[in-house]
Amino acid sequence: MPTVDLTEELLRLLRHHKAKGRQYVFLSPENLTYLQQSPRPSQTPASSDDTARKQAQTDDQAVQQQASPQQSAASSTPRKKERVSDSRVGQMDWETLISTIQSCTACPLHSVRTQTVPGAGNMNAELMFIGEAPGEEEDRQGLPFVGKAGQQLDKMIKAMQFEREEVFIGNIVKCRPPANRVPQNNETSQCLPYLERQIELIQPRIIVLLGSTPLSQLTGARSINRAHGQWYEVYGIPAVPTFHPSFLLRSPAKKKEAWEDLKQVMRYLGKDPEETMRRRQTSS
Ligand code: SF4
Repeated sequence: MPTVDLTEELLRLLRHHKAKGRQYVFLSPENLTYLQQSPRPSQTPASSDDTARKQAQTDDQAVQQQASPQQSAASSTPRKKERVSDSRVGQMDWETLISTIQSCTACPLHSVRTQTVPGAGNMNAELMFIGEAPGEEEDRQGLPFVGKAGQQLDKMIKAMQFEREEVFIGNIVKCRPPANRVPQNNETSQCLPYLERQIELIQPRIIVLLGSTPLSQLTGARSINRAHGQWYEVYGIPAVPTFHPSFLLRSPAKKKEAWEDLKQVMRYLGKDPEETMRRRQTSS
């Protein structure tokens, strides 16, 4: 009966992730506690296993450095989006990327747009929001989240102790779908390389996924009701889904749950949610 060396298999998996350029490895709370508390193997005389042991220690350290307590405690089974391969887009600088988006005709949405909505905000943002697609007002102005949903998102950003100019806001597709329908697969598959390049250029510390479409497109998970507040990884960046601002306007009872999601993101970024509550009390 064939036997499997689990250590070697685990190392093989970690090397695979590293080769894919992934910067984070998620650990369950149980495994993180083990790595933090169990004694490291002491130096031992050279043996036939010495090279493998040293490699194991190196990889082990890399895993600990890359996994934050917040990430590890939040999810033991993250799902990851594989990189979208588009070497041409993957080489673009910001200027070329934006002009390419603005003249893009790669999917049918180009024929019904007024203008593209590439995204807006701080190109060095530590916090990035990703929504679904431009709506009517966004299509008219060429800016993301500028309608009523945008006002709700502004409140969320403010509650997180950020200004809109400090974060970056983008969408899964850059052109408005007719009648605000959900973007179709042939549209998202053409447009996602642009978003991936934006994430690569910005290198945010964390991404907030707004609603079902970015959740399913970027993580494969389907139910925002189940997935909100959990931790995922999107192109190597930690990501937390929450409800779309439009949905929160229709279902204000869900705002409390959304706030709990955002509080996790704030703590990850070193912000104190209690400070927001204190500011609200002071201003009221
Ligand atoms: S939605 Fe994206 S892929 Fe489609 S035309 Fe607009 S920019 Fe191009």
